[in-house]
Amino acid sequence: GCNSRRKPEWLKIKLPKGQLSVEVLNIVREHHLHTICTSGMCPNQGECWGCGTATFMIGGNICTRNCRFCNVTTGRPLPLDPEEPHHIASSVKLLHLKHAVITSVDRDDLEDLGATHWVKVIRAVKEMNPSVTMEVLIPDFQGRSELIGQIIEAKPEVISHNLETVRRLTKEIRSRATYDMSLGVVHQVAASGIVAKSGIMLGLGETREEILETMDDLRAAGCAVMTIGQYLQPTAANVEVKEYITPETFEAYRRIGMQKGFTHVESGPLVRSSYHAEKHVKQAE
Ligand code: SF4
Ligand code: SF4
Repeated sequence: GCNSRRKPEWLKIKLPKGQLSVEVLNIVREHHLHTICTSGMCPNQGECWGCGTATFMIGGNICTRNCRFCNVTTGRPLPLDPEEPHHIASSVKLLHLKHAVITSVDRDDLEDLGATHWVKVIRAVKEMNPSVTMEVLIPDFQGRSELIGQIIEAKPEVISHNLETVRRLTKEIRSRATYDMSLGVVHQVAASGIVAKSGIMLGLGETREEILETMDDLRAAGCAVMTIGQYLQPTAANVEVKEYITPETFEAYRRIGMQKGFTHVESGPLVRSSYHAEKHVKQAE
């Protein structure tokens, strides 16, 4: 059963209290802002929001894919909300963010797979918040380079696309995506000069060798920033956790990653794709 394997001590964290101001909490409540931070009950919320970073999900909350690690509802998505670009831009302003992370469900139902909508959101955020930096965590756009090119042209500071897991487990864990297609997305981003970022989850049955190979593949694609976190089974319907990786092992992977030439490696049990995202904006210039 899904609860047979007990969580180790280092994952029994308590939500930090008192780090979010009453003002921020009221803004979130009154404006019905939808951030991954709040809806996903992310344990890092106090820390991230304290640093002026939050993550928004665009394109609705129904995904056309069905990845086995993910908790987002699968099905036929609703039409895009034309107000969303403005809504996200004003949320960024209301929350006084310094850095905004934006992600989306996959919209394989749309002719342009949602790329035009993505560009509108990026432009709206930049227009209303000229000093805010942005990271966009994009889908693979089915590998269509002209669509990925549209995102690059909108010039967010960081473009991330997660491999999620090692090559061998990709077919089992992700839906429709392939390891090589995702590496191709990372490569196109890196070649454009924008900071390219990617991440994987551990605890799905991958080996140390496979993790190191994934690091090498990302470096070869030009990836600058890597995140490595513990997979946690969100519901009983999702794939089970195979292993809890110790904080010491995560730290060892961080060091190996830095030796391999990443400019930043975030590696730890509670690391999420957007954890410490504000630090990944600027590389040595
Ligand atoms: Fe939000 Fe990401 Fe930070 Fe979690 S790690 S609080 S989702 S920005
Ligand atoms: Fe979840 Fe993204 Fe997979 Fe959709 S594509 S099921 S949002 S991980």
